[in-house]
Amino acid sequence: MFVRCCRNKLNQSAYFIQRFSSTLVVAEHDNQKLIPVTLNAITAANQIGGDVTCLVAGTQCAKVAEECSQIQGVKKVLLADNEAFKGFLPESVSPVVLAAQKQFNFSHIIAGSSAISKNLIPRVAAKLDVSPISDITGVKDPDTFIRLIYAGNAVQTLKSLDSLKLITVRSTAFEAAESGGNGTTENAPEVSISNTLSEFVSQELSKSDRPDLASARSVISGGRGMKNGENFQLLYDLAEKMNAAVGASRAAVDAGYVPNDLQVGQTGKIVAPDLYIAVGISGAIQHLAGMKDSKVIVAINKDPEAPIFQVADYGIVMDLFKAIPEMTSLLDKK
Ligand SMILES: Cc1cc2nc3c(=O)[nH]c(=O)nc-3n(C[C@H](O)[C@H](O)[C@H](O)COP(=O)(O)OP(=O)(O)OC[C@H]3O[C@@H](n4cnc5c(N)ncnc54)[C@H](O)[C@@H]3O)c2cc1C
Repeated sequence: MFVRCCRNKLNQSAYFIQRFSSTLVVAEHDNQKLIPVTLNAITAANQIGGDVTCLVAGTQCAKVAEECSQIQGVKKVLLADNEAFKGFLPESVSPVVLAAQKQFNFSHIIAGSSAISKNLIPRVAAKLDVSPISDITGVKDPDTFIRLIYAGNAVQTLKSLDSLKLITVRSTAFEAAESGGNGTTENAPEVSISNTLSEFVSQELSKSDRPDLASARSVISGGRGMKNGENFQLLYDLAEKMNAAVGASRAAVDAGYVPNDLQVGQTGKIVAPDLYIAVGISGAIQHLAGMKDSKVIVAINKDPEAPIFQVADYGIVMDLFKAIPEMTSLLDKK
C-alpha cells in the first residue's frame, strides 16, 4: 500500500513537471524552408516534455511557419515576419525572442547549435540574466542535460537550477523530428526593432552539388596528407561516385587547400554520418571531437601508428595517392 502511494505521488510530480515545462524552439530557416538543425532541436524539446512552441522570425517566411506547424510535437508557431529580420542578425531577432518570453513565460528556450544560434542565444541569455547551456547531447529530465567537455573527452551531466533554461542542441545527438503534427500559427508579439548596432549587407553562400557536410550520410575528409588543394580533386571524384560530402582537417584548411566551411572538428563542423572516410588525417583529438560519433569510420593513412586508427572501424595503411584512385576506379566498374 505504502509503495503504491509513493508511486502515485511520483507519478503526480512527473505529471506536474510534464505540465509545467513549456519550450520555445527558435527555428532556423532560409525564409523558404527549415534548416535541419531545427528538427533536431524540436526532438530535444519533445524529450523535455510539455508544450513546444516554435518561433519563426524572418522575411516573407509564412511558408516556413506552415512547415514548422506540421512537425510532430509542435503545438504552436509564432510567426514574426519583418524586413528587419533580413540576415537574422541577433541584434534584430533577440527583441522578438524576449517579447515572446515575456508573454508566454517559457521554461526552456532551445535552438540547434549553429553559427546563428551561437550569436543569438548568448545575447538573449545575457538580457535575461541566465547561463546558457551549450551544445547538449542528451536530456535526462527538464533540469538535467548531458554535454561533452574537454573536446569530447569527458561527459558532463549538468543540472540547472535556473527557472528558465537557454539551450543549444548538438544536432548529431538527436534524431530529426518528423512531420505529421498539426500545430496552430499565430503572430508573435509585436516589437519595435531599432537595430543601430549592425546592418545586413549581403551574404555569399558557396554553392555545391554535393550533399551538405553537416547532414550528409557519407563524408570523405582530407588532411595535411593531401599535400595541396589540387589533390583534393581526388576526393571530389570519389565523393561524386558515393554521393558523399567532402570535409577537411584544420591543417588542410589552414594551409589553404580548401575553404574553412569544410573544416570538421572542435572548431569546425560536428558530423555523425553513416560513413566517415579520413584520408591523410592523423586523428588529433580536436579532429576526433567533430567526427567520432560517425557510425563507421574508415582511415587511410600511410603511417600505421597514426592515432586515427584507434577510432577507425576499418583501416587502410597505404599511400592515399594510390588508395583513392583505386577506390574510385573500383566504383567505376560497378
Ligand atoms: C584549439 C584547437 C582547435 C582545433 N580544432 C581543430 C578542428 O576543428 N579540426 C581539426 O581537424 N583540427 C583542429 N585542430 C588542429 C589539430 O590539433 C591538428 O593539428 C589537426 O587536426 C591535424 O590535421 P591533419 O591530421 O590533417 O595533419 P597532420 O597531423 O599533419 O597529419 C597528416 C597525416 O597524413 C598522413 N599522410 C601524409 N602523407 C600521406 C600519404 N601520401 N598517404 C597517406 N597518409 C599520408 C600522415 O601520416 C599524417 O598522419 C585544433 C587545434 C587546437 C589547438
